[in-house]
Amino acid sequence: MEEIYCQGCGAQIQTTAPGEAGYTPASSLEREEVLCKRCFRLKHYNEIQDVAMTDDDFLKMVSSIRDAEGLVAHVIDIFDVEGSLLKSLPRIVGNNPIVLVGNKVDLLPKSANKRKLSQWLRTQAKEAGLKVKDVYLISSSKGYGMDELAEGLEQYRGGKDIYIVGTTNVGKSTFINRLIRQTSGLEEVITTSYFPGTTLGFIEIPLDDDTALIDTPGIVNKQQMAHYVSSADLKLITPNKEVKPRTYQLNEQQTLFFGGLARLDFVNGEKESFVCYFSNQLPIHRTKLEKADDLYAGHLGELLSPPDKETMEKLPDLKKSTFRITEEKTDIVFPGLGWVSITGKDLSVTAHAPEGSAVSIRKSLL
Ligand code: GDP
Repeated sequence: MEEIYCQGCGAQIQTTAPGEAGYTPASSLEREEVLCKRCFRLKHYNEIQDVAMTDDDFLKMVSSIRDAEGLVAHVIDIFDVEGSLLKSLPRIVGNNPIVLVGNKVDLLPKSANKRKLSQWLRTQAKEAGLKVKDVYLISSSKGYGMDELAEGLEQYRGGKDIYIVGTTNVGKSTFINRLIRQTSGLEEVITTSYFPGTTLGFIEIPLDDDTALIDTPGIVNKQQMAHYVSSADLKLITPNKEVKPRTYQLNEQQTLFFGGLARLDFVNGEKESFVCYFSNQLPIHRTKLEKADDLYAGHLGELLSPPDKETMEKLPDLKKSTFRITEEKTDIVFPGLGWVSITGKDLSVTAHAPEGSAVSIRKSLL
């Protein structure tokens, strides 16, 4: 096939991989102006669609931001901070200022203190080596916090472009679509010119005559649970409304199963409450530690589900990590699934999660 480039974003047109940059259905190659599906939807429906890139392609491409001047809005998923915070961002964006946008705040209990949460997020970013100008908490599906964010972006961009950067699934498209809707009077939303090799795959949405909001493809995070589970299971483990914390009073030598996808053993310590933040649909099962291995071996996919059949075929074995909790108010984080919050200290827990998904501990978010 002759090499064709999208008239909108400059990505090389391809007709085989729908989720990737430059995809267009073969039938649209007949058109005079060939656009990739992402640009087509933006142009005709004012709607952004996310496309995924591998780490290398993404880094190469997004590094062009380093040589440009603008504000970087890094969108993350507040329910999966570890999985969505890009630690490589400073290398990618150079000296450009960064604003952190914590999306999906509607998933957290309403009682969560937003100021404390912003502060917490700022600390997490700092520990990951990210210097951010400001932190915003939003819900792009519900519209929460959008006005304040729009004002903040306007202030920090100082008349320059805004680059929107994030991993897939953080809600970047939902966010941009809402911004587009809020900004009235947009007709021709994408620029028809592009600069091959530098802004490949970027979509520009004009903010005024000289500057634009620039959407970059979402980077795929290989650690995300999404790669290990079927789409039915993914739907089940991804919370879609306010998460109801579930509290278990546990004695040492007790175990909690999160479906059959992860497990937490309370190895030793005084009686303690374990507050679980997971999708309300994910069943939690309590058992004795001594029975846990047998239960898993005999009932995975039945009593302990998800996984469903399809997930069981690709789910890696569970791998153990043991943590000694020495500080009060600690979260044990299962990336892409949720976390368990413990108030007390001086206890040991063992977390089991699919190999490749890195369980971590952090200072409590709530
Ligand atoms: P992208 O891959 O970053 O572009 O993400 P999408 O915009 O496609 O969103 C990924 C998923 O997150 C979709 O199922 C959205 O419905 C959901 N989502 C996006 N924004 C929010 C939000 O503010 N709150 C909640 N609860 N879900 C959201």
